[in-house]
Amino acid sequence: MSGRRVVIADDESIIRLDLKEILIESGFDVVGEASRGDDAVELVRSLEPDLAILDIKMPGVDGVMAASQIAEEIGTPVLLLTAFSQRDLIQSARDARVSAYLVKPFQREELIPAIENVLFRAHQEQAFANDMVAPEASGAAEDKIQTRQVVEDAKTLLMRGGLSEQDAFDFIQKTAMRERLRMRVVAEQVLSGELTT
Ligand SMILES: [Mg+2]
Repeated sequence: MSGRRVVIADDESIIRLDLKEILIESGFDVVGEASRGDDAVELVRSLEPDLAILDIKMPGVDGVMAASQIAEEIGTPVLLLTAFSQRDLIQSARDARVSAYLVKPFQREELIPAIENVLFRAHQEQAFANDMVAPEASGAAEDKIQTRQVVEDAKTLLMRGGLSEQDAFDFIQKTAMRERLRMRVVAEQVLSGELTT
């Protein structure tokens, strides 16, 4: 779980220093730093990191706008940072469908799980996209929605059995790869009781 590449952006250099230290100690590779939102988008575009951590309130383009641009054009997972007082900004982050944010000042113990969660969500999205029979076929979007629902239900069932969310997803994904089945089919087998851990 090490060596993942991260771009960080915050207009306060002390926060960047802090972030960088925690990330490096946790085995991440900080490949780029910016103090402006527009610079952050440029860095993400050119460096293609595994993750971008963006402050919301930055000069140039704010973090919410930068995150939207990144989501649309590049697809890199983003974790937003916001100050506790900036509740209106959290709302705009929600509106921009950026669901992952961390409130400053954050603790080291909060940062890494928040990052792992963002990376897990992105990994899961990619897996859903790959699970489609033919992405260009008519009904593919509907198929993806149904797959997501069936996998979510199967995960919930597995989690009741004591697995973490990530382990539940891993079980479905790895079984699908091993058996050369769609995740959707494996999830249906979990739900019917045909397949257990
Ligand atoms: Mg700021």
